Amino acid sequence: MALIELKDIARHYQLGEIDVPALDGVSLSIEAGEFVAIMGQSGSGKSTLMNVLGCLDNPTSGSFHIDGQDASTLGADELAALRRERFGFIFQRYHLLPHLDARANAALPAVYAGVGQAARGDRARALLERLGLGERLHHRPNELSGGQQQRVSIARALMNGGQIILADEPTGALDSASGAEMLRLVRELNDRGHTIILVTHDATVAAHARRVIELRDGRVVADNGTPAGHVPPCELPSDAPPVQGGGPLRRLQVQWREAVATALLALKGNRLRTALSMLGISIGIASVVSIVALTTAARASIETDLSSLISGRIPVWRGNPSLPPGVVPQPFRPHEIDSLRALDGVKGITLNRQMQLTARHQSRDAMLEAIGGDANTLKARKLKLVEGRYLNAMDFESRSQVVVLDEKSRDALFKKGESAVGKLVFVNPGMAPDAGAQLPGAPPPPTAALPFTVVGVVAPEGGAFSFSGWLGQLYLPHTTFSRKLDARADVDNFDVLLDLTVPPQQVREQIIHRLKALHGREDFGTWNGEEEFRKFQNVTGAMAALFAGVAAISLLVGGVGVMNIMLVSVSERTREIGIRMAIGARQGDVRLQFLIEAVVLCCLGGLVGVALSWLAAQGVNAAQQQLHVNISWAALGVAFAVSSGVGLVFGTLPARRAAALSPVDALARE
Ligand code: ADP
Ligand code: MG
Repeated sequence: MALIELKDIARHYQLGEIDVPALDGVSLSIEAGEFVAIMGQSGSGKSTLMNVLGCLDNPTSGSFHIDGQDASTLGADELAALRRERFGFIFQRYHLLPHLDARANAALPAVYAGVGQAARGDRARALLERLGLGERLHHRPNELSGGQQQRVSIARALMNGGQIILADEPTGALDSASGAEMLRLVRELNDRGHTIILVTHDATVAAHARRVIELRDGRVVADNGTPAGHVPPCELPSDAPPVQGGGPLRRLQVQWREAVATALLALKGNRLRTALSMLGISIGIASVVSIVALTTAARASIETDLSSLISGRIPVWRGNPSLPPGVVPQPFRPHEIDSLRALDGVKGITLNRQMQLTARHQSRDAMLEAIGGDANTLKARKLKLVEGRYLNAMDFESRSQVVVLDEKSRDALFKKGESAVGKLVFVNPGMAPDAGAQLPGAPPPPTAALPFTVVGVVAPEGGAFSFSGWLGQLYLPHTTFSRKLDARADVDNFDVLLDLTVPPQQVREQIIHRLKALHGREDFGTWNGEEEFRKFQNVTGAMAALFAGVAAISLLVGGVGVMNIMLVSVSERTREIGIRMAIGARQGDVRLQFLIEAVVLCCLGGLVGVALSWLAAQGVNAAQQQLHVNISWAALGVAFAVSSGVGLVFGTLPARRAAALSPVDALARE
């Protein structure tokens, strides 16, 4: 059977309403080793025939067999394989890739055959040297003459073997000397065993061929056949490619490397555009990472602060808004409070005793809040000692007249820089305690100012929350407080301290149950910090998600920018896509190339974004001490992964569009 067998091939173009029959029932058979010229005037259908022969275009009807295989049954990938393994194309306008040098252009078909870089470089060099371009290996097409460019395209056609060379007007753009040289080379190839199909409108060019087929209006009007003297030499050209692609895995590896290299080259070729689309991704990634890091840091700070304040205690207070009018809530009596100490999960109980009073030191006096402190007060109120000492067991036991000031009250009573420790302050309760609640036998309420020795100064531990109110605070032993300032035994509020062996909610229920039984009604309130804290956490979590979402929108915008630029890139490089397909790139290869380009773009943008957010975190940390913003390696890794994901998602549409192009249409595009 003949190498190429066409039967009744028609190819019609639809131009609106008009049907243009570019080929109209062409039947041909070409043997291996033939040198055929297809002649005809411009518009006679030569290029259309060539595209059908080269599996770049599908005929409208008719059958086309190559080596006994029906081409119409082949899928896109199989046609690509046919182009890659059997055909070598030589175009009138050379169709070299402008950003690649001569050697890389010649080597390109081997990329799609899965040949390693070194092997394809060697073969490309050997081919170019044979074609007299040994000195021009690293010149780009625009640094080469027309004849030289056409020789590069011959080398490219031979790269994978080029059993069948399809040359469409190969001399059309060349001066006569280069044209003659070109024809000599083509003839030489034929002598080596390559089947040559050459399209020309020029009879003197056609004269070089052994067989001339003439087309007119899409029909064969003359075919002189191969002269009897010419016996097609052998089945395969004498210089079959010495390097053959490895298995599918090797091919994938070669393709990936090539795709990444191509992507970098393409991005480098368009620096400004690359930088701008990268910027979009960088801003997106940087804002997501910094906002997440910042809100995480803020949340952590607020939450540790808050949880140390509110966790581990259940405050109980007198009064309940749901009481019917006229009902007076009862204060808590000592035996009632003591009965709570026995409950499961209760570590202890802190009575909160406080009142407002005036204090004086020399000529300064101030309105302060006096607090009856116990051993737990410092911890419960998140205070730290800055000077002197805190109240000790002796003070509680002997009801000493000693006080610990906070910084506010110290500043109110003492001159700047003056040490308060060891000094006397005079405390005047000002308002007499509620006489009605006084137990019989207790000493009368003090009316004169009492002297107290300052033993220490405390300050908030730091953090967003503290108990410091409007007034300065003054801590004295709770025993002294109840003896000298407020002699009532009942209290209006107290804190139950939890040991957390029992869930706080359960302890709270027990407290309510017990006090309700004692008071006969629920005339008090309780508050479970744990529960409130959980609600608070939910709120801050939702806020953090909201912030991250807003930041993610900027990443989305960046992604859309990348998609836009990739679509532009696809339409600008349509011809490059056509060339790659003509020399054997599968749709998958083209898709991979553009996808990788988008991913590389986004990854670069992501790297910059990650670096920006890291710098921003360092800046924030350097500018203040309250909040430590920490960007973990994991976060950076995730950000990087997300940016490549963005590239993958937003690169898909452009890549699909590129891969869906038909080779002929893409090649025809200028
Ligand atoms: P040649 O290469 O011999 O000059 P072509 O094969 O390029 O001729 O074209 C044959 C006919 O088909 C011409 O009439 C041309 O106008 C028409 N033709 C070629 N390509 C297209 C196309 N893509 N769309 C519509 N008509 C086309
Ligand atoms: Mg043409």
